[in-house]
This record gives sequence, structure tokens and C-alpha cells, in this order.
Amino acid sequence: MECVTLGKTGLKVSRMGLGGIPIQRIDAEGTRILLHKLADQGVNYIDTARGYTVSEEYLGYALEGIRDKFILATKSMARTREAMAADIEKSLHNLRTDHIDLYQVHNPNMEQLDQVLAAGGALEALQEAKAAGKINHIGLTAHSTEVFARALELDWVETIMFPYNIVESQGEELIAQCKEKNIGFIDMKPLAGGAIENGTLAMRYICANKNVTIVIPGMAEEKEIEENINACLDPSPLSEKELKEIETVREQLGTNFCRRCNYCAPCSVGISIPNVFLFAGYLNRYGLGDWAKDRYSSLAVKASACVECGACETRCPYHLPIREMMKECAQQFGE
Ligand code: SF4
Ligand code: SF4
Repeated sequence: MECVTLGKTGLKVSRMGLGGIPIQRIDAEGTRILLHKLADQGVNYIDTARGYTVSEEYLGYALEGIRDKFILATKSMARTREAMAADIEKSLHNLRTDHIDLYQVHNPNMEQLDQVLAAGGALEALQEAKAAGKINHIGLTAHSTEVFARALELDWVETIMFPYNIVESQGEELIAQCKEKNIGFIDMKPLAGGAIENGTLAMRYICANKNVTIVIPGMAEEKEIEENINACLDPSPLSEKELKEIETVREQLGTNFCRRCNYCAPCSVGISIPNVFLFAGYLNRYGLGDWAKDRYSSLAVKASACVECGACETRCPYHLPIREMMKECAQQFGE
């Protein structure tokens, strides 16, 4: 696997790393098998988060004996010094390590970033932990270009993580600025949260952009590792056929689609919002109607239960019209 330098951190990382969200779908033993496979293939970067429920814990179990083979990154949504200090300790404990290579401020909005930077804010805890050798580098993750642009001006920010894929190119210029400022750019959501079906095409599109330092697809199966590595290793430029397919994907998905980040949770009536939209996507786009209806029927709370309170919309970083989309889903599935 090609190795690159992660901006000013100086860390040598594989061009592709592991996004730790899907770890939640497997178990500790499955995670151990996955990490050994990654190590064998020369993938040395793992990203997780305090917010990914069991992900840190399973990774900690799986890293026993092979910790030195990986650059480990995690993140916290804590905004105060006290809460961030507690989260760093929790991450160290869960990951069963004495140091974390990169600790990130997880998706702050502009007001929350003010809080992180203020006296008594989370940055103080991060810098203290760095001085103590508990964490080695500090980064930030964002979903809005406004926060991304601001992060580029903060001298303590060594890496920035942001979504970039076939249908989300709004960060392209800012990503180029990362390169100019020697800030490592970590690409999340290469498959747009699962909305892009052709994973190989998605990965090839991203790897063709040399301003992307590292891409971290979520992976839980060995098959996905093989596919993604092969796509990253293929040096050929995108063909005419692939460029046409990229246009087709863009036409199909548009911009109003769910990235499955789950920041909209909790729904006031318990609807699993990303799952409703995922199954609707399969119903409408990929000709998997029966599968989609079957999965939808297993949801405890259906789209028709939406009371249009709008609470979710205030939390969606993509400003999706969730209430309208819920109505459409309820109509399409008939419940
Ligand atoms: S608007 Fe609907 S989907 Fe959103 S939180 Fe309220 S009930 Fe849930
Ligand atoms: S509706 Fe918005 S916040 Fe919720 S999962 Fe989808 S993209 Fe994320």
C-alpha cells in the first residue's frame, strides 16, 4: 500500500485507512480478524470515535499485540476542558494503549468551536494531553465548509477530516488549501454514507485527487478491504466509461440525500432516520424493491409516525428537509 505523510503530523500513513463506524456491526473477535487482515495488507491507519458506541472497545481488544502496526486516531464531541480530559482517558482505556496518535475535535459547529477555543474549552485538555504524551497530534472533523475554512486558520489543527466523494465536492478548494498549508486531509464518507453503490468507482475517484492525503472507507468485511485496496492501487486515470458513470451517479443522487451520519438523532418518536432513508434509496435507485420493503417492515417505528416536530432538521449538518422526505418515504412504503 502506498504510504504518504499526513501533513504536519509527519506521520507515515497508508493512502487508505479504516473508518471505524461499521465496527459497531461486528463483534470484538470479528474486529480482531479485520485488523490482522489490514496489517497484512499494509493498511496502518485506524479512525474511530468516542461516539461510535463499542468501536473503541472492540478495536482495543483487536489491537492487543499489534498496536505498533497502526496509527490510531479517535475523536470526541466534548467541548469543555473537563469533558475532553475525561474522554481522552476513556479512549486510552478503551483502546488499551498509552498513547493515541491523533485526537480530533469531532464535528463542532461554529458556536461549539468558539467553546472549544475559549478559556476552559476542550483545546486546553487536548494540549495538556499532548504535552503529557497521551496524544501526539490534534485534528478536527467537520461537515460544514464554514467550519472547514475556519479550521484552516487555526495553527493547532494538524489534520482536517471532511466528506468528499463523487456527489460531495463542496470541499474541493478547501482540500487544496490543506495541501498548501501542509495540513493532512482525511477523507470521510467516500461512498457518501453508502449512497454510492459502486465502491471501486468511488474510491478511484477520490484517489485520483492527490490533495486527499488519506481516505478512510468504513469496512467490516475482508471482501471490502480487498476491493478498496485494489481500487486505491490502480494507477490508471479514470476512463471515459467511468467518467460517464460518475455523471450518472450525480444525476441519480442529486444533493438531497442522507449520508447516514446520524447527527439528527434522537428522533422525537424513535424513527431510525438514516435507516428509513437508506431503505428508500434502495427502493428507488437500485432496483432492490423487495429487499428494501422487507427491511423497512422490520423497523420498529415507520416514517408515517413522524409528527413533524422538526427537531432532527436543526441537527442535520446537510440541512436536509427531513420532514418532507419522511412524508415521501411513508407514501412510498405505504406506512
Ligand atoms: S420531524 Fe419527524 S423525523 Fe424529525 S425528529 Fe420530529 S418526528 Fe422525528
Ligand atoms: S438525515 Fe442528515 S443528520 Fe440524519 S443521518 Fe441523514 S445526513 Fe445525517
